[in-house]
Amino acid sequence: MMRVAVTGAAGRMGGEVCRSIDAAADLTLVAGVDPSVEGESLAHIANVSSDVTIAGSIDQLDPASVDVVIDFTHLAVSRTVLDWCAAAGIHTVVGTTGFDSTDIERFRLEFTDSNAIIAPNFAIGAVMMMRMAELAAPFFETAEVIEFHHNAKRDAPSGTAMMTAQRIQAAKEASDSEWDVDPTEHEVVAGARGGKVGGVGVHGVRMHGMVAHQEVIFGTTGETLTIRHDSIHRDSFMPGVLLAVRHVAERPGLTIGLDDLLFD
Ligand code: NAD
Repeated sequence: MMRVAVTGAAGRMGGEVCRSIDAAADLTLVAGVDPSVEGESLAHIANVSSDVTIAGSIDQLDPASVDVVIDFTHLAVSRTVLDWCAAAGIHTVVGTTGFDSTDIERFRLEFTDSNAIIAPNFAIGAVMMMRMAELAAPFFETAEVIEFHHNAKRDAPSGTAMMTAQRIQAAKEASDSEWDVDPTEHEVVAGARGGKVGGVGVHGVRMHGMVAHQEVIFGTTGETLTIRHDSIHRDSFMPGVLLAVRHVAERPGLTIGLDDLLFD
Protein backbone atom coordinates (compact mmCIF):
# COMPACT_ATOMS: atom_id res chain seq x y z
CA MET A 1 0.00 0.00 0.00
CA MET A 2 1.58 3.28 -1.10
CA ARG A 3 1.36 6.09 1.51
CA VAL A 4 0.54 9.47 -0.01
CA ALA A 5 0.67 13.04 1.35
CA VAL A 6 -0.98 15.95 -0.47
CA THR A 7 0.29 19.54 -0.33
CA GLY A 8 -2.27 22.23 -1.09
CA ALA A 9 -4.87 19.86 0.38
CA ALA A 10 -7.48 22.61 0.74
CA GLY A 11 -7.01 23.93 -2.79
CA ARG A 12 -9.20 23.31 -5.84
CA MET A 13 -6.85 20.64 -7.21
CA GLY A 14 -5.51 19.42 -3.86
CA GLY A 15 -9.02 18.63 -2.60
CA GLU A 16 -9.82 16.70 -5.78
CA VAL A 17 -6.53 14.79 -5.44
CA CYS A 18 -7.28 13.90 -1.79
CA ARG A 19 -10.65 12.43 -2.78
CA SER A 20 -9.09 10.39 -5.63
CA ILE A 21 -6.36 8.97 -3.40
CA ASP A 22 -8.93 8.23 -0.70
CA ALA A 23 -11.04 6.29 -3.21
CA ALA A 24 -8.11 4.24 -4.62
CA ALA A 25 -7.83 0.79 -3.01
CA ASP A 26 -4.05 0.56 -3.50
CA LEU A 27 -3.20 4.02 -2.05
CA THR A 28 -3.50 5.45 1.46
CA LEU A 29 -3.89 9.14 2.19
CA VAL A 30 -1.65 9.63 5.24
CA ALA A 31 -1.20 13.42 5.39
CA GLY A 32 -2.41 16.76 4.10
CA VAL A 33 -0.43 20.02 4.16
CA ASP A 34 -2.00 23.45 3.77
CA PRO A 35 -1.30 26.49 5.98
CA SER A 36 -4.72 27.97 5.23
CA VAL A 37 -6.35 25.17 7.26
CA GLU A 38 -3.50 24.09 9.56
CA GLY A 39 -4.71 22.01 12.52
CA GLU A 40 -8.08 21.19 10.95
CA SER A 41 -9.27 17.69 10.07
CA LEU A 42 -8.47 16.49 6.52
CA ALA A 43 -11.69 14.44 6.58
CA HIS A 44 -13.68 17.63 7.11
CA ILE A 45 -11.71 19.89 4.71
CA ALA A 46 -11.40 17.47 1.78
CA ASN A 47 -14.43 15.26 2.44
CA VAL A 48 -12.34 12.09 2.75
CA SER A 49 -12.35 9.12 5.15
CA SER A 50 -8.73 9.68 6.24
CA ASP A 51 -9.04 11.61 9.50
CA VAL A 52 -5.61 13.18 9.99
CA THR A 53 -4.77 16.69 11.17
CA ILE A 54 -3.60 19.02 8.40
CA ALA A 55 0.00 20.22 8.74
CA GLY A 56 0.96 23.82 8.05
CA SER A 57 4.21 23.10 6.25
CA ILE A 58 5.88 20.19 4.42
CA ASP A 59 8.73 20.03 6.95
CA GLN A 60 6.23 19.03 9.64
CA LEU A 61 5.85 15.64 7.90
CA ASP A 62 7.76 12.59 9.09
CA PRO A 63 9.66 11.42 5.97
CA ALA A 64 9.54 7.82 7.22
CA SER A 65 5.72 7.84 7.07
CA VAL A 66 5.29 8.97 3.45
CA ASP A 67 6.16 7.27 0.13
CA VAL A 68 4.89 9.93 -2.31
CA VAL A 69 4.04 13.63 -1.99
CA ILE A 70 1.56 15.07 -4.49
CA ASP A 71 1.87 18.83 -4.91
CA PHE A 72 -0.67 21.22 -6.43
CA THR A 73 0.15 24.56 -4.78
CA HIS A 74 1.83 27.75 -6.02
CA LEU A 75 5.17 28.11 -7.78
CA ALA A 76 7.21 29.40 -4.80
CA VAL A 77 5.70 26.78 -2.47
CA SER A 78 6.17 23.99 -4.96
CA ARG A 79 9.88 24.77 -5.33
CA THR A 80 10.36 24.28 -1.58
CA VAL A 81 8.25 21.10 -1.61
CA LEU A 82 10.39 19.60 -4.37
CA ASP A 83 13.62 20.60 -2.60
CA TRP A 84 12.38 19.07 0.68
CA CYS A 85 11.21 15.82 -0.98
CA ALA A 86 14.52 15.41 -2.85
CA ALA A 87 16.50 15.94 0.38
CA ALA A 88 14.21 13.53 2.26
CA GLY A 89 14.34 10.89 -0.50
CA ILE A 90 10.56 10.92 -1.08
CA HIS A 91 9.00 10.44 -4.51
CA THR A 92 7.09 13.48 -5.75
CA VAL A 93 4.30 14.07 -8.27
CA VAL A 94 3.84 17.73 -9.13
CA GLY A 95 1.07 19.50 -11.01
CA THR A 96 1.95 23.06 -10.06
CA THR A 97 2.78 25.11 -13.16
CA GLY A 98 5.20 27.93 -13.93
CA PHE A 99 8.65 26.34 -13.49
CA ASP A 100 11.46 27.72 -15.65
CA SER A 101 14.44 25.89 -17.13
CA THR A 102 16.65 26.82 -14.13
CA ASP A 103 14.17 25.11 -11.78
CA ILE A 104 14.06 22.02 -13.95
CA GLU A 105 17.85 21.75 -14.10
CA ARG A 106 18.05 22.05 -10.30
CA PHE A 107 15.43 19.32 -9.77
CA ARG A 108 17.30 17.06 -12.22
CA LEU A 109 20.41 17.36 -10.06
CA GLU A 110 18.53 17.05 -6.75
CA PHE A 111 16.47 13.92 -7.43
CA THR A 112 19.07 11.19 -6.95
CA ASP A 113 17.64 9.15 -4.04
CA SER A 114 14.01 9.46 -5.11
CA ASN A 115 12.07 10.34 -8.26
CA ALA A 116 9.84 13.19 -9.40
CA ILE A 117 7.22 13.50 -12.13
CA ILE A 118 6.26 17.07 -13.05
CA ALA A 119 3.43 17.44 -15.55
CA PRO A 120 1.86 20.74 -16.56
CA ASN A 121 -1.27 18.82 -17.55
CA PHE A 122 -2.40 15.47 -16.19
CA ALA A 123 -5.43 15.17 -18.51
CA ILE A 124 -4.86 12.30 -20.95
CA GLY A 125 -6.55 14.26 -23.76
CA ALA A 126 -4.17 17.18 -23.24
CA VAL A 127 -1.18 14.83 -23.54
CA MET A 128 -2.66 13.60 -26.86
CA MET A 129 -3.24 17.20 -27.99
CA MET A 130 0.45 18.03 -27.48
CA ARG A 131 1.59 14.93 -29.30
CA MET A 132 -0.73 15.55 -32.26
CA ALA A 133 0.40 19.18 -32.44
CA GLU A 134 4.01 18.01 -32.59
CA LEU A 135 3.12 15.70 -35.51
CA ALA A 136 1.41 18.50 -37.43
CA ALA A 137 4.10 21.17 -36.96
CA PRO A 138 6.34 20.35 -39.98
CA PHE A 139 3.41 20.60 -42.42
CA PHE A 140 2.19 24.15 -41.67
CA GLU A 141 3.65 27.68 -41.98
CA THR A 142 1.80 29.30 -39.06
CA ALA A 143 0.90 28.07 -35.58
CA GLU A 144 -0.80 29.74 -32.60
CA VAL A 145 -1.64 28.31 -29.19
CA ILE A 146 -4.63 29.81 -27.37
CA GLU A 147 -5.25 28.71 -23.79
CA PHE A 148 -8.39 29.49 -21.78
CA HIS A 149 -8.51 29.16 -17.96
CA HIS A 150 -10.66 30.07 -14.97
CA ASN A 151 -10.29 33.62 -13.68
CA ALA A 152 -8.23 32.65 -10.57
CA LYS A 153 -5.23 31.24 -12.43
CA ARG A 154 -2.04 33.03 -11.35
CA ASP A 155 0.46 32.23 -14.11
CA ALA A 156 0.25 33.02 -17.81
CA PRO A 157 0.62 31.51 -20.26
CA SER A 158 -0.35 28.15 -18.78
CA GLY A 159 2.26 25.42 -18.31
CA THR A 160 0.41 23.39 -20.94
CA ALA A 161 0.56 26.21 -23.47
CA MET A 162 4.28 26.67 -22.85
CA MET A 163 5.00 22.97 -23.17
CA THR A 164 2.86 22.72 -26.32
CA ALA A 165 4.58 25.70 -27.95
CA GLN A 166 8.04 24.42 -27.03
CA ARG A 167 7.29 21.00 -28.46
CA ILE A 168 5.79 22.43 -31.66
CA GLN A 169 8.84 24.68 -32.07
CA ALA A 170 11.24 21.77 -31.47
CA ALA A 171 9.38 19.61 -34.01
CA LYS A 172 9.58 22.45 -36.55
CA GLU A 173 13.31 22.91 -35.99
CA ALA A 174 13.87 19.17 -36.40
CA SER A 175 12.13 19.27 -39.80
CA ASP A 176 13.39 21.01 -42.95
CA SER A 177 10.49 23.51 -42.94
CA GLU A 178 10.19 27.05 -41.50
CA TRP A 179 7.48 29.28 -40.04
CA ASP A 180 6.32 32.30 -42.04
CA VAL A 181 7.58 35.63 -40.70
CA ASP A 182 4.92 37.40 -38.59
CA PRO A 183 3.57 40.23 -40.84
CA THR A 184 2.63 42.53 -37.89
CA GLU A 185 4.38 45.92 -38.21
CA HIS A 186 2.39 47.93 -35.68
CA GLU A 187 0.78 46.54 -32.53
CA VAL A 188 -2.01 48.98 -31.69
CA VAL A 189 -2.45 47.48 -28.20
CA ALA A 190 0.70 45.99 -26.63
CA GLY A 191 0.36 42.23 -26.43
CA ALA A 192 -2.27 42.00 -29.17
CA ARG A 193 -0.22 39.32 -30.91
CA GLY A 194 0.42 37.44 -27.66
CA GLY A 195 3.82 36.06 -26.72
CA LYS A 196 6.19 34.04 -28.90
CA VAL A 197 7.94 30.75 -28.30
CA GLY A 198 10.21 30.63 -31.34
CA GLY A 199 7.78 31.16 -34.20
CA VAL A 200 4.71 29.99 -32.27
CA GLY A 201 2.26 32.59 -30.96
CA VAL A 202 0.91 31.99 -27.44
CA HIS A 203 -2.23 33.65 -26.04
CA GLY A 204 -3.87 33.39 -22.61
CA VAL A 205 -7.54 34.04 -21.86
CA ARG A 206 -8.83 34.26 -18.23
CA MET A 207 -12.57 33.75 -17.91
CA HIS A 208 -15.23 33.09 -15.28
CA GLY A 209 -16.93 29.76 -15.86
CA MET A 210 -13.98 28.01 -17.50
CA VAL A 211 -11.70 25.25 -16.15
CA ALA A 212 -8.78 24.52 -18.56
CA HIS A 213 -9.04 24.59 -22.35
CA GLN A 214 -6.64 24.96 -25.25
CA GLU A 215 -6.69 25.30 -29.01
CA VAL A 216 -3.70 24.81 -31.26
CA ILE A 217 -4.33 26.32 -34.70
CA PHE A 218 -2.13 25.53 -37.68
CA GLY A 219 -2.42 27.17 -41.10
CA THR A 220 -1.10 26.48 -44.58
CA THR A 221 -2.30 27.17 -48.12
CA GLY A 222 -6.12 27.21 -48.16
CA GLU A 223 -6.61 25.23 -44.96
CA THR A 224 -6.33 25.31 -41.19
CA LEU A 225 -6.15 22.55 -38.62
CA THR A 226 -7.49 23.13 -35.11
CA ILE A 227 -6.70 20.72 -32.29
CA ARG A 228 -8.77 21.49 -29.20
CA HIS A 229 -8.83 20.03 -25.72
CA ASP A 230 -11.28 20.85 -22.92
CA SER A 231 -11.05 19.91 -19.27
CA ILE A 232 -14.62 20.61 -18.21
CA HIS A 233 -14.09 19.38 -14.64
CA ARG A 234 -11.03 19.01 -12.40
CA ASP A 235 -11.63 15.26 -12.19
CA SER A 236 -10.25 15.11 -15.77
CA PHE A 237 -6.76 15.39 -14.24
CA MET A 238 -7.15 12.54 -11.74
CA PRO A 239 -6.49 9.43 -13.91
CA GLY A 240 -3.17 11.02 -14.94
CA VAL A 241 -2.28 11.90 -11.34
CA LEU A 242 -3.02 8.34 -10.19
CA LEU A 243 -1.00 6.93 -13.10
CA ALA A 244 1.97 9.10 -12.09
CA VAL A 245 1.69 8.14 -8.40
CA ARG A 246 1.60 4.43 -9.25
CA HIS A 247 4.64 4.64 -11.56
CA VAL A 248 6.87 7.32 -10.02
CA ALA A 249 8.94 4.74 -8.11
CA GLU A 250 9.93 3.07 -11.43
CA ARG A 251 11.06 6.27 -13.20
CA PRO A 252 14.56 7.23 -12.02
CA GLY A 253 15.26 10.93 -11.50
CA LEU A 254 13.07 13.61 -13.03
CA THR A 255 10.34 12.95 -15.61
CA ILE A 256 8.60 15.85 -17.35
CA GLY A 257 5.09 15.21 -18.69
CA LEU A 258 3.15 11.96 -18.97
CA ASP A 259 4.30 10.90 -22.44
CA ASP A 260 6.92 8.44 -21.17
CA LEU A 261 4.33 6.75 -18.94
CA LEU A 262 1.68 6.54 -21.68
CA PHE A 263 3.74 5.72 -24.76
CA ASP A 264 6.80 3.73 -23.56
P1 NAD B 1 -5.53 26.83 -5.33
O1 NAD B 1 -5.11 28.24 -5.08
O2 NAD B 1 -6.98 26.48 -5.28
O3 NAD B 1 -4.79 25.86 -4.28
C1 NAD B 1 -3.48 26.05 -3.83
C2 NAD B 1 -3.45 25.61 -2.37
O4 NAD B 1 -2.09 25.63 -1.91
C3 NAD B 1 -4.25 26.56 -1.44
O5 NAD B 1 -5.20 25.82 -0.69
C4 NAD B 1 -3.17 27.16 -0.55
O6 NAD B 1 -3.63 27.44 0.77
C5 NAD B 1 -2.14 26.03 -0.56
N1 NAD B 1 -0.82 26.45 -0.06
C6 NAD B 1 -0.30 27.71 0.01
N2 NAD B 1 0.91 27.69 0.60
C7 NAD B 1 1.16 26.39 0.91
C8 NAD B 1 2.23 25.73 1.56
N3 NAD B 1 3.32 26.40 1.98
N4 NAD B 1 2.17 24.38 1.72
C9 NAD B 1 1.07 23.69 1.30
N5 NAD B 1 0.02 24.25 0.69
C10 NAD B 1 0.07 25.59 0.49
O7 NAD B 1 -4.89 26.45 -6.73
P2 NAD B 1 -5.36 25.29 -7.73
O8 NAD B 1 -6.39 25.80 -8.68
O9 NAD B 1 -5.63 24.05 -6.95
O10 NAD B 1 -4.02 25.11 -8.59
C11 NAD B 1 -2.81 24.73 -7.98
C12 NAD B 1 -1.73 24.56 -9.06
O11 NAD B 1 -2.07 23.45 -9.89
C13 NAD B 1 -1.56 25.77 -9.99
O12 NAD B 1 -0.18 25.96 -10.26
C14 NAD B 1 -2.28 25.33 -11.27
O13 NAD B 1 -1.76 25.96 -12.42
C15 NAD B 1 -1.94 23.85 -11.26
N6 NAD B 1 -2.82 22.97 -12.05
C16 NAD B 1 -2.19 21.95 -12.69
C17 NAD B 1 -2.92 21.02 -13.39
C18 NAD B 1 -2.19 19.87 -14.03
O14 NAD B 1 -2.83 19.00 -14.66
N7 NAD B 1 -0.86 19.80 -13.91
C19 NAD B 1 -4.31 21.14 -13.47
C20 NAD B 1 -4.93 22.19 -12.81
C21 NAD B 1 -4.17 23.10 -12.08
